[in-house]
Amino acid sequence: MARYIGPVCRLCRREGLKLFLKGERCYTDKCAVDRRHYIPGQHGQARPAKVSEFGRQLREKQKVKRIYGVLEKQFRGYYELAARKGGVTGENLLSFLERRLDNVVYRLGFATSRSEARLLVRHGHVHLNGKPVDIPSMSLKAGDEVKVIDSSKEIARIVEAIESVERRGVPAWLTLDRKAMAGKIMTLPTRADVTMPIEERLIVELYSK
Ligand code: SF4
Repeated sequence: MARYIGPVCRLCRREGLKLFLKGERCYTDKCAVDRRHYIPGQHGQARPAKVSEFGRQLREKQKVKRIYGVLEKQFRGYYELAARKGGVTGENLLSFLERRLDNVVYRLGFATSRSEARLLVRHGHVHLNGKPVDIPSMSLKAGDEVKVIDSSKEIARIVEAIESVERRGVPAWLTLDRKAMAGKIMTLPTRADVTMPIEERLIVELYSK
């Protein structure tokens, strides 16, 4: 599956805020957003151009795609699912993104970023409901259990990630058994569970043109 492999700090600088794409580094003073708070590129320090409504909608979509590590085709698929589901489309969209297996692995603290979580899943370090899985985009439901497999519980990156999860906290819709390295989805995530500053209304307006 296609994925972005370029420099990720550039993505945060382009959006003008921390997207937390690089694990622990994001919490240190090495964060590129803190050090160079202007957009990347030759004209990055020039006076910012006036942004149109379409520009704002586009930026919001890019931001959310970057946070969750999803490319355009798949993101559009989530939007269409969200629009068909009924209720508030923007909130449905964020709920679908939160329910991805790689996001749940990250939220539980088994990885320090969503890209690291994706690797854990791809390399078979986690089980879903006791069975092997290797598809990071799998959509989970209430009651699903995600567990680090026994043979991976000593891997330093995973142990360190779980130790550092306290800093960001485990959201209320998940429970984590730290010792067993296992987590469960208690309820489906809602809009209130998304803590990043996102204006999903702009994305809905963009796609519904
Ligand atoms: Fe973004 Fe993290 Fe890089 Fe800071 S360190 S710019 S938050 S990816």
